[in-house]
Amino acid sequence: MEHQLHSGTAKLTLVEGGRHTEINYGKANSKATANVFARLPSILQTTLMLEELLGLFQEQTQPILAFDSFHFLHQGVYQVDSDTAHHHRCHYKLEMNGTYLGDLTLTRRHKFSDSDIKLLEDLLCLLVYPIRNCLLYRQALSSALKDNLTGLGNRSAYETNLTREIDIARRHQTPLSLLVMDIDNFKNINDSYGHNSGDRALKVVADTVVQALRLSDACYRFGGEEFTILLGNTDIKAARLVAERIRIAVSQILCNDGKQNFSFTASLGIAQLHQREQGYHLFERADMALYQAKQTGRNLTVCAPSPAQV
Ligand code: GH3
Ligand code: MG
Ligand code: MG
Repeated sequence: MEHQLHSGTAKLTLVEGGRHTEINYGKANSKATANVFARLPSILQTTLMLEELLGLFQEQTQPILAFDSFHFLHQGVYQVDSDTAHHHRCHYKLEMNGTYLGDLTLTRRHKFSDSDIKLLEDLLCLLVYPIRNCLLYRQALSSALKDNLTGLGNRSAYETNLTREIDIARRHQTPLSLLVMDIDNFKNINDSYGHNSGDRALKVVADTVVQALRLSDACYRFGGEEFTILLGNTDIKAARLVAERIRIAVSQILCNDGKQNFSFTASLGIAQLHQREQGYHLFERADMALYQAKQTGRNLTVCAPSPAQV
């Protein structure tokens, strides 16, 4: 069955659930219910983190709705608890101004009465704006970490993930390698074929590198025509193979400025994380290896010696 309830610009669509006729909330619960309605709006204002918001909503409404499980589904967010195979369920699709906000499902061993459904819908009306705000915040956070031109993570994303990858490598005692790649003579590309062609070349390089990597590896646009690639669970020998694969793939890219084709090359420096080494030092060593690749003639991969060998 489908029932729609509009509250301002919010739309709740009851996808599956009981009949919707009654308006009154259960009398026995009326004081507790009134309390929840009084405090819920300010409680939901205390966070912009979606998982936390859903947790608060769940915690506040469970005592008056007595649900056994609470599911919320949105891109990348899936909150679920307990086995619900044989339960009664209420399933809502939440939208605002035509924007999809998520699917919410509550289940219970005993049926949802009409008054339960009315109560739930009134509570959901208090939840939709905070969910919308959390999703907007999530979007803002993710675009702050993204490079607009290539769609790769930017330097901030690189710094954050480097710290995380170093933590993982230390905890699991696994190798971690960093590649720093710089396009060769890129200034000439802008000068010869125009800045727009240069931009397009950067985008193709980014796509080419992503294609050459495992899903778990990540490439970032560090700045300008320089990229960093974090290879978890990869020692310098394996990283060198990856770097060579990338270098060859980049050298095979064919771009076009509208009149003629052009190609270019890239140089790469590689370093493997050393015990107790800080992230900035790992970068310095990879960058120094890149510098050597440039000095030695470009279109090359150079591995940094481990600090002990220096
Ligand atoms: P090298 O081989 O030594 O790295 O030489 P290079 O010319 O690549 O290096 P240089 O640092 O001299 O020049 C980098 C050029 O990259 C200059 C800059 O205008 C260009 N560049 C940086 N960011 C962008 C961008 O977003 N778009 C375009 N089209 N060009 C960019
Ligand atoms: Mg360059
Ligand atoms: Mg550069």
